[in-house]
Amino acid sequence: MTKQSGTIGVTTENIFPVIKKFLYSDQEIFLRELVSNAIDATQKLKTLASFGEYKGEITDPTVRVTVDKNAGTLTVSDHGIGMTAEDIDKYINQIAFSGAEEFLEKYKDTANAIIGHFGLGFYSAFMVAKKVEIVSLSYKEGSEAVKWECDGSPEFQMSPAEKTTVGTDIILYIDDDSKKFLEQGEIDLLLKKYCRFLPVPIISGKEQEWKDGKYVDTDRDKIINITEPTWTKKPAELTDEDYRNFYHELYPGQEDPLFWIHLNVDYPFNLTGILFFPKIKNNFELTKNRIQLYCNQVYVTDSVEGVVPEFMMLLQGVIDSPDIPLNVSRSYLQSDTAVKKISGYITKKVAARLEEIFKSDRKDFELKWDDIKIFIEYGMLTNDKFCDAAMKFALLKDTESKYYTLEEYRTLIEGNQTDKDGNVVYIYATDPVAQYTYIQAAGERGYNVLLLDGQLDSHFIGLLESKIDKSRFVRVDSDIVDNLIPSDSKKDVDLSSNSRDMLTEVFRSQLPTLDKAEFLVSFEALNPDANPILITQNEYMRRMKDMAAMQPGMSFYGELPDSYNLIINTENEVIKRIIADADSQLMPSLEPIFKTIDANNEKTTSIRATASDGKLSDVDKSQIKHLDEDSAHQRNEEKSLAGKYASAQPLVKQVIDLALLANGLLRGAELNEFIKRSVSLL
Ligand code: ADP
Repeated sequence: MTKQSGTIGVTTENIFPVIKKFLYSDQEIFLRELVSNAIDATQKLKTLASFGEYKGEITDPTVRVTVDKNAGTLTVSDHGIGMTAEDIDKYINQIAFSGAEEFLEKYKDTANAIIGHFGLGFYSAFMVAKKVEIVSLSYKEGSEAVKWECDGSPEFQMSPAEKTTVGTDIILYIDDDSKKFLEQGEIDLLLKKYCRFLPVPIISGKEQEWKDGKYVDTDRDKIINITEPTWTKKPAELTDEDYRNFYHELYPGQEDPLFWIHLNVDYPFNLTGILFFPKIKNNFELTKNRIQLYCNQVYVTDSVEGVVPEFMMLLQGVIDSPDIPLNVSRSYLQSDTAVKKISGYITKKVAARLEEIFKSDRKDFELKWDDIKIFIEYGMLTNDKFCDAAMKFALLKDTESKYYTLEEYRTLIEGNQTDKDGNVVYIYATDPVAQYTYIQAAGERGYNVLLLDGQLDSHFIGLLESKIDKSRFVRVDSDIVDNLIPSDSKKDVDLSSNSRDMLTEVFRSQLPTLDKAEFLVSFEALNPDANPILITQNEYMRRMKDMAAMQPGMSFYGELPDSYNLIINTENEVIKRIIADADSQLMPSLEPIFKTIDANNEKTTSIRATASDGKLSDVDKSQIKHLDEDSAHQRNEEKSLAGKYASAQPLVKQVIDLALLANGLLRGAELNEFIKRSVSLL
C-alpha cells in the first residue's frame, strides 16, 4: 500500500482532551478495553477457522501484554483476525466518532455512556498515551501488514508495515503523567482486576522464582487469568469443592460459604453467575468483599447497586451478563430496563433456590439458619417480592432451639395462645439468660417462647405482625405471664383502696433509686405459686427504645428513662403475710390520715358543687388550696410512716430484691446488702 494520511472521522476539533478529562478517574479501564478487543479478535479467528474460512494455522491463541520501560511503551499483542487498511479505516477512523459532537453535547456529564455508546474502547488508550500505533496483519489471504499512528490529534498516518504473523499489536507510548502504567506490578494488578476470568490466556511478564535471596524472572511466561471460570461451566459438572475453591479464589482468606446459587438464564436476557452466602464475622467484611459484575467474563465493577436488589449486597460472588452495558455509570445502570429485569430475576431465583435447599435438606438449612437469618430478614424487610416468597421458608427458632416455619409455628401455638380478641400471641425472648424466669413461667403455663435476638429482629417483628393476620408479638417479660395473653377469666385483686394506698407506699419506699429507671407499683391476683413480685417492661416503650438504639432519628425515645412495672402478686403467701402484718401494724396509724384526706376531698367536692355555674369565688379558691395543701401534707405523713414501717420489715425489701435480681437489676452495694440480709433471714 502507499503511505496515506487523513483525518479521523470526528467533527469535534480535539476530542482526546475531552476523553481524558471526563475519564480521568477511570483511566485504568483502557487496559480492559484493549485486552477485550484482543480477546475478541482471537476468538473471531477461532470461529472463522472452525467454519473453514480461515485456512491458516492458529499456533498461539494468546494475548500478550508487554511493558518496555526503556522505550516507554505498553504493547497489547494478539494473534487474532488482524485488520487490513480498509478495516482500520472502517472500524477505527470512521465508526468511532460519527456524530460524536452532537452526542457529547447531550451527554456531557456521563462520559462512561459516551464510551459505551460509541464503542470508543480503542480510543480510551489516549487517556494514558501520547501516541498510539496499530501494527496489524489481517487473516485475509493476500493481506499486507499495515501500521496506523496517531498522536492524539484528530490526524492519523497509515503506512505499510513489517509484520509476518496474523494478528495485531497495539503500542501505547505512555504519557509522562501516566508513567505508573509502565510498572509491571501495576499492570499485573490491573489485569488481575479486569481480566482475571477472560477466556483466552493472557501473558504478562515472566514467572518468577526465588534465587540468591531475591525473586528473579524465569523464562516461563506468566499467565494471569483463568480462562474457564467456574460460573461458565454447567452446574452438573461441578462439585461442592469446585464452588468452594472458586469462592476462595475470589475472596482469599474467608471462611467457607454457607450456600451458593448458580445462576443461568438465557431468556429474556443472558445471565450467568454464582452467588454465595458468606459466613459473616464482622461488618467490615461485608463492605469489602462484594459481588462482582462481569460482561462476557470482563470485569466491569463491584458497585452493583441497582443490578442486584439492595439486600443482596450482603451476598458475594459473580454476575456475568452481556446485557449489562460494559461502560456505565451507576445512575445509568439504575435506570436501565434490562438491568431492572435482571434485579427482579435474581430476586426470584435466590428465593426459589433457598426454598429448594430448605425442602431438600431441612436439617442443613436449620443448621445454617442462624447465619443466613440476617440476609433473609433483611430481604424480607426491603423487598416485597422476596418477602412473599420467603414466607414459605423463613424460620422461627424457639428458646429450646427448635425451628418452625411461620405456618408450623402458628399451628403450634394457635390453640393455647389466642387472646380474648382472637389474636394469636407470639411470645418472644431477646435474651434467654436475663429473661430466664419469665421464659420459665411462660413454659410452665404451656406457652412456647421464641428467641428473637438478631440484629434486625425488632424490625422483623413489626413486619410479621403486618404480614400475619391476627397476630401480636409480646416480649416474654413485657407483662406477667397471666397478662401476656389476656383472657376473660381473670381474678380480681381483693384489696380496699386504703390498703392499696398503704401497700403502694410500703413497697415504693423500699425501691432502689436506679439511674434512668422508673417503677410503677401495681397489684395483681396471680397464681399463688408465681413469684411474689414480678418486674415487667412495657412492650411498646421497649420496642421504641430498641429501635432508637439503631436509628439516630429516634433518639428522643432513647433519652426516656426505662419504665418498669412492679407487679405485686396478692395471692402469693409471702405477700399475703406482708399485707396482713401491715394491716394490723401500720393501718391503725394511717387510718386517721386517710380519714382526713377523705374529708378534705369531700369538702372540696362540695365547695365545687355549690359554686354558681361552676365559677369559684376567691374565698372558695383559697379554701380549696388550703385543703389541697393539707392533703399533700397528709400524704407526706403517710409516706413517711409507711417508709419507717417498711424499713423495719426486711421481708419487704427482700421480695423486691428477689424480683430485681431476677431481672439483672440488682447490682453493687444493693446486691451486697441483699446477700447479707438473706443470710440473716436464714
Ligand atoms: P468496540 O470494541 O466496542 O467495537 P473499539 O473502538 O474498541 O470498539 O474497536 C473498534 C473496532 O476495531 C472493533 O469492533 C474491531 O472490529 C476493531 N478492532 C479493535 N481492536 C482490534 C484488534 N486487536 N484486532 C482486530 N480488530 C480490532
